[in-house]
Amino acid sequence: MKGRKLLMIPGPIEFEPEVLRVLGAQTASHVAPNFIATFGNCIRSMRKIWQTKNGQPFIISGSGTLAMDMAASNLIEQGDNALVISTGYFGDRYKDILERYGANVTILNVVPGKTIEIDRVNDALKKKKYKLLTFTHVDTSTGVLVNPKPIAELAKKYNVLSILDGVCSVAGEEIKQEEWGLDIVLTASQKAIGVPPGLALLVVSKKAMSVWEQRKTLVSNYYCDWQNWLPIMKAYEEGKPSYFGTPPVNLIFALEKSLEIIVTEGIQKRVKRHQTIAAAFRRSIQSIGLKLMPISNNICANTLSAIYYPEDVNGGEFCAKMAANDIIVAGGLLPELKTIYFRVGHMGSVSTKDIVATLSAIENALKFVNYKFEFGISLKTFQEEIYKTTINN
Ligand SMILES: *Cc1c(COP(=O)(O)O)cnc(C)c1O
Repeated sequence: MKGRKLLMIPGPIEFEPEVLRVLGAQTASHVAPNFIATFGNCIRSMRKIWQTKNGQPFIISGSGTLAMDMAASNLIEQGDNALVISTGYFGDRYKDILERYGANVTILNVVPGKTIEIDRVNDALKKKKYKLLTFTHVDTSTGVLVNPKPIAELAKKYNVLSILDGVCSVAGEEIKQEEWGLDIVLTASQKAIGVPPGLALLVVSKKAMSVWEQRKTLVSNYYCDWQNWLPIMKAYEEGKPSYFGTPPVNLIFALEKSLEIIVTEGIQKRVKRHQTIAAAFRRSIQSIGLKLMPISNNICANTLSAIYYPEDVNGGEFCAKMAANDIIVAGGLLPELKTIYFRVGHMGSVSTKDIVATLSAIENALKFVNYKFEFGISLKTFQEEIYKTTINN
């Protein structure tokens, strides 16, 4: 269809038509019985998707950065030690946020494209007592997938709260918050959750809530203070009206729909779909001779891919050609490497058909900028990979 674009960036993503339809309905009162019921449903669905029975969900108007801010501002007091494991852009951002609230931050960095070695985390935790640690499940700047389980286990062993930035992973990658012992898992609506931008979503463990309760000083961020929001979340879950700040009513109706779609698909099946599509996409990209930023296929995210341009290919020209073909991809995000790679989001409602269209546009743009390769090879590879996995299932 003329003018219809396919948004293949790591958020906002392509949204399900039903979600968008709900979003456009007439706005209800934030204390209307049907809205209260919807809010309660969202809270209950979040527990299912995050895989926790006892976690406390928060649904707040804001972006993913607000979710990061909320976790930091409620748990950090002046002078607390925090460990940031940074695998890219968003890890670095967490350092800035924590410092703003007076934390003493130690940061563990990696070379872009690598994941963190678990021994380095262990050594850091052995050396110094931390109140909390943060890490990024999928750093959207590098496409690297960090395995949360061993890090969560270490945090538990050293009695340190663990905060997982799951903005680019929740509802796309495997997360078992309670089983793995993660204290906070946070995300935003516009990524694999599948709702237009505007919602910060967190689930907080009982342990983290009790650390917050034992604070000696007031939370210095008024809007983020759980003191203001916890009664609201509890009231909505109990089916009672409540008010602190007006919730984004339409977005929450849309959230209910999208969470319902996720729960109906089943979280395991959904994660598997992401894995299958991502693996086939990676092989297809590699078949054209392009290189991924993650140093090996087993640390590649399933929600997005970060891909180096071939040498001598002008990234600006390539992305412009993609856009002219109505496939929108994202440029690089790491400031120092920005011009040498691009990113393709493949999360949420993503289907094999979206990938076929994307690969076709990538080949078209590469040919246009005079890159030499076997025209059609990525499409053939993708077909074969997907055929294999559907036959085997
Ligand atoms: C997108 C993203 C964020 C920031 O979310 P915003 O909604 O843009 O504020 C943080 N962390 C990760 C891993 C992300 O992918």
